[in-house]
Amino acid sequence: MVYILSYADGGKILSKRDYYEVLGVSKTATDTEIKKAYRKLSMKYHPDKNKDEGATDKFKEVQEAYDVLSDSNKRAQYDQYGHTDFGGAGGFGGAGFEDFNFSGFGDIFDNIFGGGRRQRQYNGPIKGEDLTYTFKITFMEAAFGADKDFSIRREDNCDDCKGTGATAGTTKETCPTCHGSGQVMSSMGFFQSVRTCPSCNGTGSIIKDPCKKCGGSGRIKKERKIHLNVPAGVFEGARIKIANEGDAGKNGGPYGDLYIIINIAPHDEFKREGNDVYSEIKINIFQAALGDVLQINTIHGKEDLEIPEGTQFGSTFRLKGKGIPKLRSDSKGDHYVFIKVVVPQHLNKEQKEKMEMLRHSLGNAPLTYKPRKEKKVFFEKIKDFFTD
Ligand SMILES: [Zn+2]
Ligand SMILES: [Zn+2]
Repeated sequence: MVYILSYADGGKILSKRDYYEVLGVSKTATDTEIKKAYRKLSMKYHPDKNKDEGATDKFKEVQEAYDVLSDSNKRAQYDQYGHTDFGGAGGFGGAGFEDFNFSGFGDIFDNIFGGGRRQRQYNGPIKGEDLTYTFKITFMEAAFGADKDFSIRREDNCDDCKGTGATAGTTKETCPTCHGSGQVMSSMGFFQSVRTCPSCNGTGSIIKDPCKKCGGSGRIKKERKIHLNVPAGVFEGARIKIANEGDAGKNGGPYGDLYIIINIAPHDEFKREGNDVYSEIKINIFQAALGDVLQINTIHGKEDLEIPEGTQFGSTFRLKGKGIPKLRSDSKGDHYVFIKVVVPQHLNKEQKEKMEMLRHSLGNAPLTYKPRKEKKVFFEKIKDFFTD
């Protein structure tokens, strides 16, 4: 499962309105109701129609809410985990509205408003590529959060030519074939066709003296230092967006975004499911029969756990609130301790005789442990968990 988070610059989580509230529908709204609300609101706040202050933000909010609630998987995730940025529709983490045109909204507009709204100029600004990196963190870092610094390589503008591709001191020249439009028109009889200019490959300009450092591309690979604030309680597979840390844009377009996929290393002692932590401990049959107080390792340190007399194999004890902090919340999951009862081996003669006596005194009957029904399901679950 992939859980996605939204980050603006520097990893700050944006506070967001509830998506259902944004669309003005109930939590049980049908797909049709959601679609209807979305159409109505996106018409209302569409920036071409509504020049009120804040209309643009409302519009973006509506797009985002719809992006999540119209997708059954995303909606289910949202219902369970609340606000996360699903990465779709460009993600709104700090992205200016100017670049909505490069982040896939064009399609949405075309669908709603009949298309042909604005033709993208071939040699116009293009947003840089988004980059995705997988970043490995420890179990404890995922639980408690961490500040991480690392470097990535991204395509950036060349320093020597400032991204123009032309040797410093020289400039690009307007392409004589297309006069800078990047397109040439040709006509055959009644038909006119527009195609990419073959002289400049659609860029609209020609470099006579290409920059030595970048070979005229205007771009070089550069190392970039990234600071990542890993939030406490982050999930395996979480996708964290860091705005504007992707590749440089072209023709003056904005930088792409950087996505960090969180990969959590397993822990020797603890397992995790959601925000709950699981561990197992071995006790001997005497501790199980007579009871004991044990010191248990939790992610928060040692905790006393009282084992009552008559504890059975597979019993599970819960240490409430000793699990992993929940994302953007003060509450924590629980810690479950799964009990394994160890039967003594290699008994000497005297020990065997004593066990024999014990058996006789118990009436030589097989132990009559019957797991209680309601515990069964949980027991099976735990068993599966530790037998993989
Ligand atoms: Zn250069
Ligand atoms: Zn040209």
